[in-house]
Amino acid sequence: MSLTDKNTIVSKYLSSHGDTLATHEHLGLEAIRAGLDAGRMALLANPSHKNVSPTLIGQPGRVKVNANIGTSPMINNVEMEIQKLKLAEKAGAHTVMDLSTAGDLDEVRVRILEASPLPLGTVPLYSVAQPYVARGQDPSDFTVDELFEEIEKEAEQGVDFMTLHCGVTARGASLASDGRRILGIVSRGGALLARWMKRRNVENPLLENYDRLLKICLKHNVTISLGDGLRPGAGADAGDAAQWEEVSVLGDLAKRAVEYGVQIMIEGPGHVPLHLVQSQIQGIKRLTNNAPLYVLGPLTTDAAAGYDHIAGAIGGAQAAYFGADFLCYLTPAEHVTLPGPEDVWDGVKASLIAAQSAETALGRPWAVERDLNISKARAALDWEAMADNALDPYTLRKRRQDFHKEKECAMCGSFCAIRMLEGVEDAMICGKKS
Ligand code: SF4
Repeated sequence: MSLTDKNTIVSKYLSSHGDTLATHEHLGLEAIRAGLDAGRMALLANPSHKNVSPTLIGQPGRVKVNANIGTSPMINNVEMEIQKLKLAEKAGAHTVMDLSTAGDLDEVRVRILEASPLPLGTVPLYSVAQPYVARGQDPSDFTVDELFEEIEKEAEQGVDFMTLHCGVTARGASLASDGRRILGIVSRGGALLARWMKRRNVENPLLENYDRLLKICLKHNVTISLGDGLRPGAGADAGDAAQWEEVSVLGDLAKRAVEYGVQIMIEGPGHVPLHLVQSQIQGIKRLTNNAPLYVLGPLTTDAAAGYDHIAGAIGGAQAAYFGADFLCYLTPAEHVTLPGPEDVWDGVKASLIAAQSAETALGRPWAVERDLNISKARAALDWEAMADNALDPYTLRKRRQDFHKEKECAMCGSFCAIRMLEGVEDAMICGKKS
């Protein structure tokens, strides 16, 4: 039996939304079904998320962009998170993740689910650990049952995909934290699990109880985003033993999930110098049977604090060109503070630029056409057509506002190169007066 036979929820969504998905992805329905059955694509949609727009991630579909939102212990404002959600949607994000770690996490999650047609992702480990942190206890005091009860509750609430760091083994955690790395473990979920294992001298509970997890996820069509708890958090750590140990485990877990009928994605790095992006992406794809790859950046330099959305977009463009399917945005606030609404906007736009750059280079017709339309509009100084095709029409219109009555823009004014040859006959341009 194929995945779409075993997973009746996916099968139903294909029946009800197949034509819309096919049109959006520029693919035939059979290509989508084949991608889902092979585990190369995932259809994000939990039926309990009532207003969800089912969204496909994976080859040969379009590259997608995720925006992370959520409270933190130092900035805890639910209304701002809802505002960020709305801005992420308006900016063009395809999914959002609620990474809240402060306040009433159920309330925040349910409010986001009700307000969001975009598929929602979470990291259940945060919600399990948060009450312990709030009480001043050890964050890794939670029990296995508490962890699985949280996963089941969030699945019932309608969460469409969950980051679950099933591939963090005791060996991998040791490789990442024994001092050979510059930056150890930088994933919150990965560090939490490493602490949980170390204190008890046992293996990862998500790995040990993987079948229990698969059962919950199949019932609700929760896509497991197999987390990269040991991702490199410094360029110098990229491609080390800990990272590949985890990727290798994730490949096995991905296969088991697809055989069970559960959809998966693989999460990827992280911090990766530019010259290693290609080998990282292709290596991860190879070890995970071409499962949908969801990358955080990757950041191609560690030195861009304040501009990490740019470092992430440079890596994201490279990554998508070499096979990554899903770009998790970075914002200018990365590594510094919790993103505000403007950061969310800038982060989504940066990732969309990365996706557009990659898809144009890959020759995908919709992306090539968009670039061509802009070029033609520029040649005609047609500002409305430029805005219609721009990845950020709002900013284009806003920046042109003061001079919108002029044909050219304020960059060169009467020195406009495009207008310079107006009224000059071709023959004269060539210097061949007839
Ligand atoms: S004024 Fe300069 S920048 Fe503006 S449209 Fe003309 S050539 Fe381009």
